Amino acid sequence: MKFNKKIAFGAWINDIKNILMGNSNWPDVNIDDQTIKDYASLFKLLKESGYDSIDIFGLLVGHDWPPELETVLKNGRKEKVTKIIDSAHKNGIDVIFGLGIYSWGFDAIIRSDPEVQGTNESAMCGSKEKSKKWQERVIKLIIDNFDIDGLHLEASDQGRCSCPECSKEGNVQYYSRLNKEAAIFIRERWPEKYLLVNDCAYLPWGDYISKDEFKYVYDLGKHIDAFIDNGNHGLFIREEDRKEFIKDLPCGFGSSGGFWIYAPQRWDRLRWFLPYVNKTGNFLKSLYSDGGRACEYYMGPTVNPSTEVNIYFGGLLLSNIDKEIGEILRLTLDKLYVPKNSEYLGIITEIFIDAENAFFDNWKPSIKPFELPEKFAGDVETLRFWSEKTPERTIPGELFLEPLVGLKPGEPIYLKNNMSEEGLRRYKTELEKISERVNKIKTGFDDSGRISRISECISNTIKDINQILS
Ligand SMILES: [Zn+2]
Repeated sequence: MKFNKKIAFGAWINDIKNILMGNSNWPDVNIDDQTIKDYASLFKLLKESGYDSIDIFGLLVGHDWPPELETVLKNGRKEKVTKIIDSAHKNGIDVIFGLGIYSWGFDAIIRSDPEVQGTNESAMCGSKEKSKKWQERVIKLIIDNFDIDGLHLEASDQGRCSCPECSKEGNVQYYSRLNKEAAIFIRERWPEKYLLVNDCAYLPWGDYISKDEFKYVYDLGKHIDAFIDNGNHGLFIREEDRKEFIKDLPCGFGSSGGFWIYAPQRWDRLRWFLPYVNKTGNFLKSLYSDGGRACEYYMGPTVNPSTEVNIYFGGLLLSNIDKEIGEILRLTLDKLYVPKNSEYLGIITEIFIDAENAFFDNWKPSIKPFELPEKFAGDVETLRFWSEKTPERTIPGELFLEPLVGLKPGEPIYLKNNMSEEGLRRYKTELEKISERVNKIKTGFDDSGRISRISECISNTIKDINQILS
């Protein structure tokens, strides 16, 4: 038993990068030799663990398509992107182009063209014919120039236009319509392309798509392959309604892993150690049993040993969803760590499970949105709307380790925001015990340095905890 679509989700182009990228603001969409090299090794791992596709945002732009659209291909960008796509294909991995619809990429166009301006400087007005034309030109440029296998359409992440005309539609209707129009444009011309819509930020964090509004998503579903209820800031299909929702949905349904770390762009790659295989494993099993068959599983830098295991585990589990989580974890560790005997395999498996529990046993996930000091808020204060009615549901699917935006390595908000002082002390004690166990088994593997990297990650996490406690 397996998922039909097992997508590795970038999400942004450099999130997978194995070296610190310096202090450029997020999202850094520069492609250098390291980016290309890290993708080449990632694709091998994806293939081996069972993924079939990669979904990447920022292949061409971050915030700004240039109004002279074709110039985006210049200065070697077309060649670099082609290299990444070819490298994926060589490993049998399909490439899904992450594409903002009316937003994520249109800031410069909005500034330069009054005919698409509405109330949001990062989202074109959804009621103007010219906006549609710009969107279509962008899609055509991408498909004409690159051998991509599909597109990820996302209209909602940066909010919407609320001019009098656009305001006639509620959020679910509005975003579904914009995604649908783009999907129809693509389907009519390039019917072979895989199309997914991701509902990231369709609604305020904590809210649900009501049953009365299912019809808008069903209508969209006639024109795409999968609807992804991402869950980074709330799942929008109420979990108790999910089975019923999926039954009548004309396309596939999926989600991300239920819980994941969003790769911290300005952090040293060995600054955290947080496996989450039980957390995500249980979520994916429940999604599958409700009928979900697609997954966009978040990536990160595989040089971090917890990230690497989370990713490899994800691919194996999506390919063997009926197998036990513990068994999949053992298979993962056997493959990556090459233990000298089964006793070592047992110990390393326990270490990963214990490290996961050490964090989650002390983590209080619900955020009090309006009480968060701004400097600890990551992107959540500035980029998200909060549910007024159910703030207790603001539990991160996507965990930020540092604030998303900024120009220097940010504070460890994942420890500061959601752990009490006692929780931090307990987490530190558990990590110290784990670190001692790791030191004792160093010679038991042919692990290419992974065990030492675990030690370094734990030691760096303890440094962060000490900093907060001091
Ligand atoms: Zn408008």
